[in-house]
Amino acid sequence: TPYSDYIKGVIRTVRDWPQAGINFRDITPLMQNRAAFRKLIDAFVHQYQEQEIDAIAAIDARGFIIGAPLAYELNTSFVPVRKKGKLPFKTLSETYKLEYGEATVELHADAFQAGERILVVDDLIATGGTMLAAAKLIKRVGGEVVECATIIDLPDLGGSDAIQAAGFKIFSVCS
Ligand code: IMP
Repeated sequence: TPYSDYIKGVIRTVRDWPQAGINFRDITPLMQNRAAFRKLIDAFVHQYQEQEIDAIAAIDARGFIIGAPLAYELNTSFVPVRKKGKLPFKTLSETYKLEYGEATVELHADAFQAGERILVVDDLIATGGTMLAAAKLIKRVGGEVVECATIIDLPDLGGSDAIQAAGFKIFSVCS
């Protein structure tokens, strides 16, 4: 997008957090900056306003920050994909590998009607495990994954390639 460099410029890199060797991409300066936050949401709105999206599936927790204003602007419904144990009703879950251990994301079984066009959103794609697990959950409950959208893609970690290899499309504002 025309704002990729601008958005990139307001994301902070925190060295060695949460542990030594990790460069954490911190979006709080982006959200604190009203012009930047608006431009960010506008970039997603522009990308999807003609795509007839029925629902935004947003990933716990930073995905919610983009997903909610986007659902409002695109006039879609909003569905949370949550970490294990947070959703109260009947859920489906997907477990995936992390560098150390594993993680699980969950979705309500009645989140979508069959054939609904779903946009999945999160703040960042690293190994791609989280986004891919979310996309699989959406397919399992009968949704059509239109695209996986993120603010930041870290292509060196191979996550976006893996997600595409699994048959899903990706949009990132910056990488
Ligand atoms: P992945 O599953 O390895 O692709 O990791 C992506 C998930 O971890 C997303 O839900 C992100 O919110 C979170 N994450 C991983 N690294 C970072 C980072 O540097 N900044 C912010 N979130 C991150």
